[in-house]
Amino acid sequence: MAGFLDGRTALITGSTSGLGLGFARALAAEGCAIMLNGFGDTAEIETTRSGLESEFGVTVRYNGADMREPEQVVGMVEDATAQLGKVDILINNAGMQHRDPTEGFPVDKWDDMLAINLSAPFHATRAVLPQMKARDWGRIINTASTNALVASPNVVAYTATKHGILGMTKVVALETIETGVTCNAICPGTVRTNLSEHRIDTFAEEVGLPKEEALADYLAQKQPYHQPMGRFITVEEIAAAAVYLCSDAGAAMRGAAFTIDGGWTAR
Ligand code: NAD
Repeated sequence: MAGFLDGRTALITGSTSGLGLGFARALAAEGCAIMLNGFGDTAEIETTRSGLESEFGVTVRYNGADMREPEQVVGMVEDATAQLGKVDILINNAGMQHRDPTEGFPVDKWDDMLAINLSAPFHATRAVLPQMKARDWGRIINTASTNALVASPNVVAYTATKHGILGMTKVVALETIETGVTCNAICPGTVRTNLSEHRIDTFAEEVGLPKEEALADYLAQKQPYHQPMGRFITVEEIAAAAVYLCSDAGAAMRGAAFTIDGGWTAR
């Protein structure tokens, strides 16, 4: 399928579900070859991979690197470069969430979230920058969150890592400012994915309602997950931002927090 990303390649971490899979679909629809990454059932991942190939007529590969392991992150970049010929676009998207008050926050969850949400993007970015700079073209997109801009209670590691990745985004953007490589963060409000489903489950338990009945109350909350639009953001609405950032029109977006949150942080 012809598109403006014909001949381009993208490595997207955490793309076996949710937003990452949405990014993969949107870029593949523009002709981009894709390296998927993430956890899941082997047969389901293969169905996703081959399904994207046949739907969009692009090469799609998969690397199962664990983002908690720096050597595997670097190995994934090498594998993507070998299998796709290069990495033009890196989307650091894999992430995890855990909710607990700070004094009871499990230390192993803190360590995992630092590794997945913040260190893995550093290792992957560090590994792709030389080839992007050599070709004088590249797009690095970090999936941050509204929690990169504002805090919510009970999500200390999430908020700290998302604030951190926005800082890293700005540094990389400044270090590449005189090149054709851009680095930006996308900051979504709540999108219904595996990650947010857990949060909605917890809320339903707290208010003592069946989940589908609790949804309206969840969306209407004043704190901490206020969605002024009264609906969830869609995967497609977020993926469209990545398509824009990868286009020529996005070339002047540098170190930006591309916020798509239905008004959450506008108050
Ligand atoms: P998701 O759970 O559907 O996707 C997470 C992806 O990361 C999956 O592919 C999973 O397999 C992968 N992953 C998790 N741990 C990994 C590891 N150790 N190594 C490799 N891959 C791993 O959830 P999502 O909502 O699509 O999350 C994607 C990103 O979007 C995350 O960074 C999340 O913080 C961010 N985000 C989500 C929302 C939301 O409301 N869903 C809002 C703002 C930001």
